Amino acid sequence: MDKSGRWPPVPAGRRGGTYQRAAPHPEHLRGKSGGKLRLEIRKTDGGNTRLNLDDIALLTAAGAATPAVAPASVPAPSSPARTAVVVSRDDNMALGNPSGATSSLSTPNNYLLSKHQYAMSYNAGRGIPNWVSWHLNRAWMGSAPRQDDFRPDPALPRGFYQVSTGSYLGSGFDRGHNCPSADRTTDLDDNSATFLMTNMIPQAANNNQRTWSGLEEYGRRLVDAGNEVYIIMGNYGKGGTGLNGRATTIDQGRITVPARIWKVLVVLPEGTNDLQRIAAGQARVLAIDTPNDQSVSPDWSRYRVSVDAIEEATGLDLLSNIPLEAQDRLEARVDTGPTR
Ligand code: MN
Ligand code: MN
Repeated sequence: MDKSGRWPPVPAGRRGGTYQRAAPHPEHLRGKSGGKLRLEIRKTDGGNTRLNLDDIALLTAAGAATPAVAPASVPAPSSPARTAVVVSRDDNMALGNPSGATSSLSTPNNYLLSKHQYAMSYNAGRGIPNWVSWHLNRAWMGSAPRQDDFRPDPALPRGFYQVSTGSYLGSGFDRGHNCPSADRTTDLDDNSATFLMTNMIPQAANNNQRTWSGLEEYGRRLVDAGNEVYIIMGNYGKGGTGLNGRATTIDQGRITVPARIWKVLVVLPEGTNDLQRIAAGQARVLAIDTPNDQSVSPDWSRYRVSVDAIEEATGLDLLSNIPLEAQDRLEARVDTGPTR
């Protein structure tokens, strides 16, 4: 807005962008009084033309939340438009913070990095994340091309060693994404965020390019089939086998080569009240734990384990936002469902 309190005029010839009305997640809208409210309005066509917004009003059950900018044009709750399935970007850490990571410099090996696109516990001593957590549904997927702009993460505190793309050069290991490039394709910024070096681990090429890419594609196919997926990926142990043979570290000891790479997917039909639905047994839980070796099988389904097994191996508490009784039930199981 300009000083007069008006939106600047749209330059001639740049009109025409349309937008979808913000689809606030009901879990956020309904939140406790005084809780945070998150809204998003996303432009869905028109290239780089501007987005023209007017008639915005924030409403609560008690009426206008703030003085309305203009007369309300939000449909009444009974509007038929509301019955459509809500496809919203949900909290990347909705299932919990498995290691109680915080952005405190006193815990550099369990340092919380929370980005719009994913959240992680970064381990400065290992030069890789402990775990990365993200939400995947159609609201995260578009047609943005792969950016390939691997680079150091400017969000890391100054005192931390900055892993760069050169850190992996000649190591015999791939720069393996945790949150995959193809899971973040709505726009260039989202895709580019997946190429920050904090999102990488030294991953055996056969694990990255065969086993893992197959698993990642399976996750996206589940979304195409109408599901949303909460994903947590991590690693543990020390020592893997890449193209140059076995190594425990790369980059002169500054980056640990993990021995095992794991992933947990919680899959449920696209919808709302996700935590309640998961607790009620309406989700499929898939957990995979693979060796970081060239000898790994391309068939990820062979590596299915229970969430409990990953928790035992890592000391993490996964799915910690799910009520304990349901966690116990869901975490003990080993998935036997379809794998393609
Ligand atoms: Mn949802
Ligand atoms: Mn747990």
